[in-house]
Formats: sequence, C-alpha cells, structure tokens
Amino acid sequence: MKNEMTLHIKSLSENEAFARSTVAAFCAQVNPRLEDIIDIKTAVSEAVTNSVVHAYPNSVGDIKINVALKDDLVTITITDYGIGIFDTEKAREPFFTTKPEDERSGMGFTVMESFMDTLDVKNNTHKGLTIKMTKKLLIQDTAMVAND
Ligand code: ATP
Ligand code: MG
Repeated sequence: MKNEMTLHIKSLSENEAFARSTVAAFCAQVNPRLEDIIDIKTAVSEAVTNSVVHAYPNSVGDIKINVALKDDLVTITITDYGIGIFDTEKAREPFFTTKPEDERSGMGFTVMESFMDTLDVKNNTHKGLTIKMTKKLLIQDTAMVAND
C-alpha cells in the first residue's frame, strides 16, 4: 500500500487546525489506532505553529506539508521558506526558545520527537526549514473496527 498527498497553506494561525485535521484524515485510511492519530495531530500542530510563529514572524508565507503512507509507515515533511534556524541542534533542546517574551516554552521539537518515531530538522539550501517526521502505525483489524 502506497499513497501520498501534498498540502499548500499560508502561514496563518487559522490554518493550523485545518492542517492537523487534514493530515489526520489522510492517515485514517489505513485504520491506525486513535492514539496514533492524536500523536500525529499534536506533532503536525507543533510544526505548523513553528512555521507560523518563527519562520515568518512579521509576514505571511507559504507552508508545504507532504504526507506519504507506505504500508504502516507514515512520513510527514513540513517545509517553510522563512528565516530558518541558526543552530538546529540547540533549537531542539528542551526549553530552548527564541521567544520567551511570547510565553513560548521551547518544547515544540521535544513534543514532536516524543510523539513521533524519528525527527529530522534541516535548513533548506535556499531559505527556510524542512522537518521530516516518521511514525510506524499500529494498524487495526478492519473487522474489529466494524465491531467496535
Ligand atoms: P513552544 O513550541 O513550546 O511554544 P518554541 O516554538 O520556541 O516554543 P520549539 O518549537 O521547540 O519551541 O522551537 C525552538 C526554537 O526553534 C524556536 O524558539 C525558534 O527559534 C526555532 N524554530 C522552530 N521552528 C522554526 C521555523 N520553522 N523557522 C525558524 N525558526 C524555528
Ligand atoms: Mg514551537
């Protein structure tokens, strides 16, 4: 089983809920557990919020979200074309934030890392940031779902 979709959105906070729900709806076709769907929604939400808040602090830019399903593996790639990150290793540390005055806690990457199996954070060669996350889903038996 192999499927893929790409979503292009503007970096508006109104699009955060739309993005996480759309990714979740796409993943639902393989019948994952509700827990996995919730984890994916949380991780997507953190990533999209980062692009909205940090990548384009004083403007509105583009965000591209690609979701690839291959059997029980989901790969989510989120790209923006904003300011990028000076030190990606440092940015991933728990409680590291460049916006403490906005009451950011610096836990976004830590949340993504714990809710997904892998997380890769890279500046784009041209401009902005790409984060790639993967997760193995526990697929439910369709017959069991029908009897739920
Ligand atoms: P929280 O997510 O808890 O509200 P936060 O967004 O500051 O706080 P992280 O999501 O862990 O924490 O991100 C850490 C830091 O990495 C941010 O403060 C910001 O400096 C940088 N960062 C994250 N995503 C991006 C991005 N898409 N573009 C530019 N900088 C980013
Ligand atoms: Mg964040």
